[in-house]
Amino acid sequence: MQMFPVFTKLIDQKVVIVGGGEDAARKARLLRAAHAHVYFIYPVIEESVRLEFAKNAKFIDREPLATDFERTKIAFVAVEDAEQQKLYAELIRRAGVLVNVVDVPALCDFNTPSIIDRDEVVVAISTNGKAPMLGRSIRSRIEKWLPARLGSLVTFAGRYRPAVKVRFPGRIRQFWGDFFDGAIATQFLAGDEHGAHDAMMKHINQFDGDDLNKDQSPMGVVQIVGAGPGDPELLTMRAHRLLQEADVILYDRLVSEDILSLARRDAVRHFVGKEKSNHAVPQEEIHDWMIALARTGKNVVRLKGGDPFIFGRGGEELSALQEAGVPAFVTPGITAAAGCAAAMGMALTHRDHAQVLTFVTGHTCNEEDPTIDWQSLAQSNTTLVVYMGINKSSTIAEKLIAFGRSKSTPVAVIENGTRNHQVLAKGNLGTLPLIIERAGIKSPALLVIGEVAQLAKETFTDEIQQNLNDMQITQQAQRMIG
Ligand code: SAH
Repeated sequence: MQMFPVFTKLIDQKVVIVGGGEDAARKARLLRAAHAHVYFIYPVIEESVRLEFAKNAKFIDREPLATDFERTKIAFVAVEDAEQQKLYAELIRRAGVLVNVVDVPALCDFNTPSIIDRDEVVVAISTNGKAPMLGRSIRSRIEKWLPARLGSLVTFAGRYRPAVKVRFPGRIRQFWGDFFDGAIATQFLAGDEHGAHDAMMKHINQFDGDDLNKDQSPMGVVQIVGAGPGDPELLTMRAHRLLQEADVILYDRLVSEDILSLARRDAVRHFVGKEKSNHAVPQEEIHDWMIALARTGKNVVRLKGGDPFIFGRGGEELSALQEAGVPAFVTPGITAAAGCAAAMGMALTHRDHAQVLTFVTGHTCNEEDPTIDWQSLAQSNTTLVVYMGINKSSTIAEKLIAFGRSKSTPVAVIENGTRNHQVLAKGNLGTLPLIIERAGIKSPALLVIGEVAQLAKETFTDEIQQNLNDMQITQQAQRMIG
């Protein structure tokens, strides 16, 4: 170990920064988060720095003196000139203060690691000042796994510390070990602080003092999670984390293999289907299954394509879980319309073309279905996005035309949007069924009907891919040099 890690309190402590430019400001930003009293001491302090830290720092516009470092906790040197760096570092060290010279590891008594800040929980990554980019890359990898509410969870746990001490003497470590991996912590991290409090009180009060495992809080949690339209990069950070924490995953047909591969390796996976007229597992059974799993203490992820609340029966699942008293939470996902629109560079409400955006399911688009208001769907300023609509495209086109939408209205049909092998077929309303047939479009596919459909194009052409490859190579080269 080249450097020994220590976390130090800087609240209301004096910290001096010799320098007045962007490097100095960068350190001051970190110090502000730690509530330090910052002094910039340097003949030239940039105006922008002065403005940014007007409320949090003092500015002394001259060369630093030995006496400036009295009662100083730590100091930074953020100047470019090598001679000055050495001079200031010596001055500071002679005053008995630890010094960091920005970007000069050889002159540093300490370094500032890459930080993941979750309030009470802080992760610091050091590469001994030698590879800050690597530090940053490690940080972003770890960052993903740490829930935003982790710091608050520690504060929450702190409230029960005295009670746990009394109720679980000699078992305190085991209690907290179980707690941080357990259902109550999951419930808290999912945002249900009240529920977590109730569960915690019950858990502490029910304990009989003999066997911790005997009296584990039995209830698991069900997370109804949107997996987005297919591209794994379109998962939310929370979805990604929940997949890593799941014991059991119940997933739909639309969830891609790429996304499942991001789940915890030993999570049990069950395909529960969902395809028009081909429900691998009937909806009721999915409800019962989730409830039963949660009751045995499992962390269940119910993973659904797109957004769970957009034509996904997420609402029914949530109600069933709530009725059964199972803690259930919803993580939204990027719905197919948003994913396909982005993939095709087609703004669904481009202000030149559409003031209304309607999502409709093709399931109900039957000739005589009274629940469909064709009049309003046929309005000319509307972008109409039809989910599950390819089999109903003839009816949809006929009805819209009959209710006044022009035959020449542009349409775009997108199959497997955001995935490899996505397909785009374009034309107009009059020829919609023909376009689908000619392009051999299959499910999953969306119909986009309205003027904005003319904007749709494959944004990922070979030429762009080539440019991206070139760019990546240049960036890699720069990183290796710098
Ligand atoms: N909850 C999902 C929709 C489920 S209904 C969401 O919010 O996206 C299933 C329908 O969504 C499919 O029949 C298709 O119309 C559409 N769909 C889902 N993923 C798609 C994709 N990658 N490309 C095109 N359409 C998609």
